[in-house]
Amino acid sequence: MLHANDLNRDCGMAVEADDNYDILIVGGGLAGLSCAVSLLSGTGAANRAREAPSVALLEWQERLGGRLYTCQVGDLEADAGAAWVHGVDGNPLIEDGWITSEDLVASSAQNIWLHGPAESDSCSFGRTEADEGWETRLAAVGRSAAAASALGRSLEDGLQESEAELGPMNDGERQRLRMLEGWFGISADRIGLLEWDGDHGSMGDYPGAHCILKGGTRILVERMEKEARLRGLKVFLGHEVLELEELEDGVLCRCHDRCFRAAWVVVTVSLGVLQSRGPRWLSLPERPLQRLDMCHYNKLLLRVSEAAAERFPVFTHLDSKYFWQLFNYWPLTRKPLLSLASLALESEELTELEAREMACELLHLEPHEISAMHFTRWGQIPWCHGSYSVSSKHAEWDDIRALLAATEGRRIKLAGEHTHEEHQGGFHAAYLSGLRAAQEVLRGVWIC
Ligand SMILES: Cc1cc2nc3c(=O)[nH]c(=O)nc-3n(C[C@H](O)[C@H](O)[C@H](O)COP(=O)(O)OP(=O)(O)OC[C@H]3O[C@@H](n4cnc5c(N)ncnc54)[C@H](O)[C@@H]3O)c2cc1C
Repeated sequence: MLHANDLNRDCGMAVEADDNYDILIVGGGLAGLSCAVSLLSGTGAANRAREAPSVALLEWQERLGGRLYTCQVGDLEADAGAAWVHGVDGNPLIEDGWITSEDLVASSAQNIWLHGPAESDSCSFGRTEADEGWETRLAAVGRSAAAASALGRSLEDGLQESEAELGPMNDGERQRLRMLEGWFGISADRIGLLEWDGDHGSMGDYPGAHCILKGGTRILVERMEKEARLRGLKVFLGHEVLELEELEDGVLCRCHDRCFRAAWVVVTVSLGVLQSRGPRWLSLPERPLQRLDMCHYNKLLLRVSEAAAERFPVFTHLDSKYFWQLFNYWPLTRKPLLSLASLALESEELTELEAREMACELLHLEPHEISAMHFTRWGQIPWCHGSYSVSSKHAEWDDIRALLAATEGRRIKLAGEHTHEEHQGGFHAAYLSGLRAAQEVLRGVWIC
């Protein structure tokens, strides 16, 4: 193992004094930003005992926010990544004051994807008697998942088994299944049955209304970035970390033409990036890393005429292989903006023109009613490789814990939405994981 004194020689390039920090954060999404604010908050025992640590953040992109990305669609702004605050009651981003009630507008009174619409929700579909059987069926799936080993089995397997007891699924139940697939971002034949055994569910939300941010998720990123910089965070944009090398008393971080060193490093890159770099990149256990999955949830955002936007409720089911649901901003924000959601990996192969033509056909829009569009292909973006993580049918219940355990006693810590067992997938998970990693590092600083 190298010692810090050997750093300049072994980095293969000069480490300037300026590139030497107590703590480096790799990745400037919400996990990286919340970690930075927490490290610099001065409230931890270690911080109180000594000077505030020097903290720098290395971000591959020329902007912060990662999968929180408010983009331009013609003259309007829209969230191409995360859009929903999944439940307001007890949500830590609201409790900690990063999001206020003035920022929010409710799109549904409850989690529409897991529980279906409430009476007051604006949808092309309502809760019918046929739907009522859905909860009974999921309870049966849960019983069979708990009774037999759920490992290697999917939700679809569980639903097929439930047919012996409850008969074939009706149309209402199929529609609810499609919404549930939308929540997980993957199809029922990939969703792990472990999710239904009562003990090991992830992808958690909070109770209460599900909301969008009127000003886009951009406002959250800007607030946290401002706070972190105010507290002394140094930000390096356009810095892809290629290699990390652990030393006895620190870590070397190699970028293309610059090398940084720090006593501690928090890596917040997505599960997709970890998978693409392979287990050796951070010495992580291979099987848990490969068993967890990145979904391919994409959005076709359309700037349409007001007349076109007025024709749709907030949520509309779509009957298409490529697009499963339409979300309409107009009734909530008076922005004539439509967002078609897709889970099919194949949709990433569609050209802009094909996607636009498909939207016109599905929504009965005239081409002239669309003035601008933005089509995401999250699976093809090298800094994330997918939309968000999910425990697939191949995952074991302690896979996330195994990833975290692999960093115990080391100077590299992990954060990011994929590292939060309870809330995996959501940006609240990213936020909480950043706070947790900061506490782990501060504990280490204190022990040293
Ligand atoms: C289409 C879509 C819809 C979503 N919808 C919702 C929703 O409605 N509600 C919700 O709660 N969540 C949603 N999510 C999930 C949410 O966006 C994520 O959980 C959250 O933003 C992840 O934050 P993070 O900090 O963990 O990761 P990221 O945001 O991915 O941040 C990681 C950062 O690391 C950087 N990076 C990667 N590799 C390197 C490297 N080698 N060197 C330096 N930097 C690197 C990346 O550029 C990135 O900025 C959605 C995601 C997508 C894609």
